[in-house]
Amino acid sequence: MKITNVEAIVLSLPEKRERTDGTQDMLLVKVTTDSGIVGYGEVDSSPLVAKSVIDAPVSHTISRGLRHLVIGQDPFAYEYLWDRMYQGCLYHGRRGAAIQAMSGIDLALWDIMGKALGMPVYKLLGGGFRKEVRAYASALFGDDLAHTSDKVKRYVDDGFTAVKMGWEPMGRDPDYDVQLVKTMREAAGPKVDVLVDAGLCWDAKTAIRMARRFEDYDIFWLEEPLHPDNLEGYRRLSEAASVRIAAGEEESSRASFVDLMDRGKIDVVQVDVTRVGGLTEAKKIAYLAHDRGLPCVNHSFTTDINIAASLHLLASIPNAPLLEFCAEESPLRTQLAREPIQVLDGMVRVPEGPGLGVELNEEVIERYRVRT
Ligand code: MG
Repeated sequence: MKITNVEAIVLSLPEKRERTDGTQDMLLVKVTTDSGIVGYGEVDSSPLVAKSVIDAPVSHTISRGLRHLVIGQDPFAYEYLWDRMYQGCLYHGRRGAAIQAMSGIDLALWDIMGKALGMPVYKLLGGGFRKEVRAYASALFGDDLAHTSDKVKRYVDDGFTAVKMGWEPMGRDPDYDVQLVKTMREAAGPKVDVLVDAGLCWDAKTAIRMARRFEDYDIFWLEEPLHPDNLEGYRRLSEAASVRIAAGEEESSRASFVDLMDRGKIDVVQVDVTRVGGLTEAKKIAYLAHDRGLPCVNHSFTTDINIAASLHLLASIPNAPLLEFCAEESPLRTQLAREPIQVLDGMVRVPEGPGLGVELNEEVIERYRVRT
């Protein structure tokens, strides 16, 4: 089998709000083969930037567009192709958008391999650790405390046993931040786990102080309180705080995760399969975490392609306690898959269909497609 084409397709809502909401656009990657099998992947990046990484013409030996590096190649050679892409864009790559763009192609390769063999991807990854994963509802804070409370209650009513909220307005007013966490805890009740995503808003000393103020509300983890480059701050925070510190969603390279774990001393490793170079690389990062006795969870705030691929990862590693399930209701989040991934009694089943196990809705793709 040979790869015959790679298309990078930008999807976007017609109107976007300026807030930290990854459900408003996406880059869909479609890889076609000479056998007729088509694989799909996703990139969580700035869609047009990542599309350029894929479509760019050859500039020189180590600055080539990704599609030129994989067309004509065997899709089963996933390790070789990962390295070929990495080396082929070394000049502008190694971190950020280039690795993020590689994720879309890598995920599509896994989709193709699974479809060709009639098997779900987790089986090709050697998975079997779990058939379902406990999910947490992941959302942005409400517009005010009452709205935040309503959102948490709705997710608990939907069966979630863990709820995370985050980003704006956390970081603007310490007393209001405590009110936000108190509101979440009161709405969730004593038995539901409450997770807080601070959204890069503090310096280390503020984060240490806030982690102590949140102790009354028994939060499960405190996510990304610091800028991702502040490794020394992460170390000081992790050593001072009793709560678990989670981070990793801004990272795209294995080396950055090693830094976060070994220098930043984080407690929970968050890998986004649409940012770190796909499943091929995500599994390696997950095992680096496992070697250090750390849990590895997904980061997913985009579509069911991301969630499906994450489920295949979490089924294939020993150290995966939770699934991030984005509960925001953007049409790209909820309508891209013909049969959206469901949460039942707080659990999500690992897809059993061939490939990633997600069939896409062509009408939705056409509706939100941006002609570039
Ligand atoms: Mg986050």
